[in-house]
Amino acid sequence: MNGVRLFSPATISNLSCGFDVLGLCLETIGDYMEITKSKKKGIYITSIIGEKVPYEVKKNVAGVSSEALIDSLNPDFGFEIKIDKKIKPGSGIGSSAASSVGAVVGINHLLGNPFKPEELIPYALEGEKLACGSEHADNVAPAILGGITLVRSTKPIDIIKLPIPKNLKAVIIHPKIEIKTADARKVLDKSIPLEKASQYWANLGAFVSSLYENNYELMKKSIVDNIIEPKRSQLIPMFDSLKQIANDNDSIGCGISGSGPSVFSLANGLKTAKIINNSFKKIYEETGIPFETYVSDINKSGVKILSAF
Ligand code: ADP
Repeated sequence: MNGVRLFSPATISNLSCGFDVLGLCLETIGDYMEITKSKKKGIYITSIIGEKVPYEVKKNVAGVSSEALIDSLNPDFGFEIKIDKKIKPGSGIGSSAASSVGAVVGINHLLGNPFKPEELIPYALEGEKLACGSEHADNVAPAILGGITLVRSTKPIDIIKLPIPKNLKAVIIHPKIEIKTADARKVLDKSIPLEKASQYWANLGAFVSSLYENNYELMKKSIVDNIIEPKRSQLIPMFDSLKQIANDNDSIGCGISGSGPSVFSLANGLKTAKIINNSFKKIYEETGIPFETYVSDINKSGVKILSAF
């Protein structure tokens, strides 16, 4: 085997009640990558199409995470990486995680899978460190493992895969303005009052329970963010209107995806998801701000190897 072509999915992190720990893997949005063995040792990024990201290996998250991986395995050949970047960087749907994860999963595959998917997370996190200055696995974990994940700990890595309720769909609106994760972190308070914190973790516990119970009513009550959203929503035009219209159309919770500007809504069934999607479009068409919307299933398996050659 000389090369692989793969699909590396976009992800929704935080999900309102799980800041830095919850993430959900999307089916219909993601990057494509091709990774081939090269005679020369090292990592080479030879093609980037779609969105603009750096060619320099040390500045591209795919390069940084692949280097970390080959440093630990030391194969006597190298790898060429081609990226078809469909997820805009800074969109809030895990653009950097998709590249980091795709790179390490592809190289691991070409080496005969010495690592289990979960064991690749620390390497992919090297890329996240480059993108936003901190090692959060809330996008990386669902992109590698699929489904809905809870990051219990990053040191050591401990990820819990949560059940996916029947008929759960995700709707995303991506206003085409850039909010850097690092900047979106700066608007947050450094400390939070205990009462607010206890309400927040009560919601997270209830959300996890709702997934196990397939309980949409409880899920709806628990997708609440009393800490991050009040600060970050100010950076997103029409956020309150999006939330209101999602709620009016039977959303199972609407909030900021990752650090924004994308906004997500969960829905019970495709029909409701499409109605919410159309209502999001109507709101944004009036703003003149360019945007994209997506309706997606939950991706149960994460990165997909499409072909090996
Ligand atoms: P997102 O939440 O969408 O991943 P971030 O703000 O966390 O966005 O990360 C994007 C940052 O990472 C940008 O500064 C971008 O230039 C940088 N970056 C480097 N390599 C890549 C890559 N392969 N894919 C996406 N972003 C990358």
